[in-house]
Amino acid sequence: METLTKDCIHCGKCTRKCSFLQKYSLDLQELARHPELAYHCFLCGQCTRVCPKGIDGREVALTLRRNRVQEAGGKVPEKGYAALLAEKKNYLFRNARKAHKKSVLFPGCNFPSFYPKTTAYLAELLAKQADMGVLFDCCGKPIAELGLNEEEGLTALKQRLSSLGVEEVVVLCPNCYHYLKPRLDIPVLSIYEKLRHLGLGNTIQEETGYLFVPCPDKASRELETTLRPFLEGQWEDVPDIPCCGLGGCAAGKEPEIAASFSAELSSRDYPNVYTYCASCAGRLSRGGVENVHHVLVDILGTGETPELTVKSLWNRAKFRF
Ligand code: SF4
Ligand code: SF4
Repeated sequence: METLTKDCIHCGKCTRKCSFLQKYSLDLQELARHPELAYHCFLCGQCTRVCPKGIDGREVALTLRRNRVQEAGGKVPEKGYAALLAEKKNYLFRNARKAHKKSVLFPGCNFPSFYPKTTAYLAELLAKQADMGVLFDCCGKPIAELGLNEEEGLTALKQRLSSLGVEEVVVLCPNCYHYLKPRLDIPVLSIYEKLRHLGLGNTIQEETGYLFVPCPDKASRELETTLRPFLEGQWEDVPDIPCCGLGGCAAGKEPEIAASFSAELSSRDYPNVYTYCASCAGRLSRGGVENVHHVLVDILGTGETPELTVKSLWNRAKFRF
């Protein structure tokens, strides 16, 4: 842990960009000495992007989490994560019945919850147009981000893909994309690359479109690059809101900070807000932000708005049964 933050010069740039660090009057080197705050960090990476010494705040918080899990004998040492663990540790709503194909759509956990009709439409479209299968599964990132050992889940996922004969995974969630791409030994493509390759999907025309870039894609913008050909007109980033509030499963620890992100976005009165993460679209809409669009939903033209009630969990379960 010492080595992660040894170059800190205490300039305070990370603190000025982060409501969580401000609340506890910490910079990243000081955070490293507060294991009790490990689960209060949104893992958004905003601090890293401003640190002149390249100190990785996500890694600081993740290391704190991993250390605490190790001290607790391999268990998450905090309350409030039982439901998440019960669902995602060995994904409860896994469904591989239509996954015996070389190329599979991997919708992840959250897109099917918030956009069930679009999920079903897309799976059918890809089956018809490209003979693709669909695998309802969890990438494993939520488990890894709680500080638990990721190897077991990853090995099992690789074995499942191999036994299904899958040679290519097509993802639509930025978490799945950035988590699986460097970890799987088969190609992981974005849905936008696949749609372009197949000549499918509409372009989105806005005089000025406002793009809320999801945390996992903020540093590289790699997934965004793949969807840019579908955006026409002028596009601007939504600046200075680090996270939708769901990052790092920290909302339970810091509910006021989590709510402040939607409140800030709401107060700006953008005529539209586009994102390409279902969790962001759902969370921001639930937080009162109007006119939130998921880019993929508009590209496919299904007109679906995110499910804002508890039915979202049931939507996820439906794809299992
Ligand atoms: S921005 Fe980097 S160098 Fe500055 S206080 Fe934070 S961790 Fe230290
Ligand atoms: S990752 Fe985000 S929430 Fe965590 S310390 Fe950095 S800026 Fe703050």
